[in-house]
Amino acid sequence: MEKSQYKGIWVFAEQENAVIHPVTWELLAKARELGAECGESVTAVLLGSGVASLAGELIARGADEVIIAEDPALAEYSPRPYQHAVAELAARRMPSIILYGATPLGRDLAPRVMVSLNTGLTADAIDLSFDEDGVFCQTTPAYGGKLLAHITIPERRPQMVTVRPRTFEPLEADPARSGSIITEKVNVEPDGCWEVLGCEKKSASGAQLENASVIVAGGRGVKTEEQMNMLRRLADLLGGQVAGSRPLVESGLLTHDYQLGQSGATVKPELIINAAVSGSIQYRVGMQGAKRIASINLNASAPIFSISHYGMVADFKALVPAIIEEIERRRQN
Ligand SMILES: Cc1cc2nc3c(=O)[nH]c(=O)nc-3n(C[C@H](O)[C@H](O)[C@H](O)COP(=O)(O)OP(=O)(O)OC[C@H]3O[C@@H](n4cnc5c(N)ncnc54)[C@H](O)[C@@H]3O)c2cc1C
Repeated sequence: MEKSQYKGIWVFAEQENAVIHPVTWELLAKARELGAECGESVTAVLLGSGVASLAGELIARGADEVIIAEDPALAEYSPRPYQHAVAELAARRMPSIILYGATPLGRDLAPRVMVSLNTGLTADAIDLSFDEDGVFCQTTPAYGGKLLAHITIPERRPQMVTVRPRTFEPLEADPARSGSIITEKVNVEPDGCWEVLGCEKKSASGAQLENASVIVAGGRGVKTEEQMNMLRRLADLLGGQVAGSRPLVESGLLTHDYQLGQSGATVKPELIINAAVSGSIQYRVGMQGAKRIASINLNASAPIFSISHYGMVADFKALVPAIIEEIERRRQN
């Protein structure tokens, strides 16, 4: 098939228990921007069972149309039925681009669909654009984040990409937007190889970094549990969460779900305070979207200062207790 026959930008609308994953709103916002540039429509693709009521919200958040495919085999995420459903829909309707969230589900599904459609997939993009010739370009960190790779998929269609959550700003929902809703049948069977016996919500005591408005993050300079507790105390006072760089996870002071960066979480809090973090590119890609960045480092030329709004050349072991004391003093007055 000629590649010019493939039209439209699809966003895979990830949902669990009929709740849309926020990355879908972010992808719809970016898809609108891309659609305006290339003159193509934005379609949300919604799979599940009993999820049709979600279509209105997808339109309000930027979709021009929603394709709904419902089947009992799609009630919960199951790799093979989802793979076959997306591949079947894409083969039938021939979108030019498909965007997925780089969530655990998106990272599982997108490569499967890639194989079914024998097309190209870029993983973990941090930006999407069209170049001066109108070629769709996906930007991802490469070589451990030292380079940014601009990837294109010149021949195969659809061009597929996973994008990290919190990379793009979602649009405000606009209930006045209108769009079309298309119901499609897909030929899927339940996956006989395995069965979901039950689902349990992850304990709320784990990291809740995605929604934290304040994060206090420690780096390799944090050496002991006592120092970690000092950062926790500051985070608690500010109504926030602790997090850390990779060495802090490697040293066992934090578990991996608290790690920021390329191989950890991407966050966009109102404020992040970095204590004893040097600011490697791999760390920065996870937190540079924060609205305000404050950093404490002994070394005045630490790279973290180049992206910080507030820089404090100090020993965090002396400065953090002083900040805590000052907050407590002001709250008592
Ligand atoms: C493929 C790949 C993926 C990676 N993914 C990630 C990732 O997701 N996240 C991540 O963080 N890293 C990641 N890394 C590792 C990354 O390259 C860096 O090694 C790491 O981010 C450094 O962490 P750091 O800043 O805490 O430590 P360092 O670079 O060692 O910096 C410690 C800083 O603390 C300062 N300091 C020391 N003591 C004090 C004190 N008492 N008070 C104030 N300042 C002090 C020092 O001056 C120094 O600047 C990855 C690397 C690779 C190759």
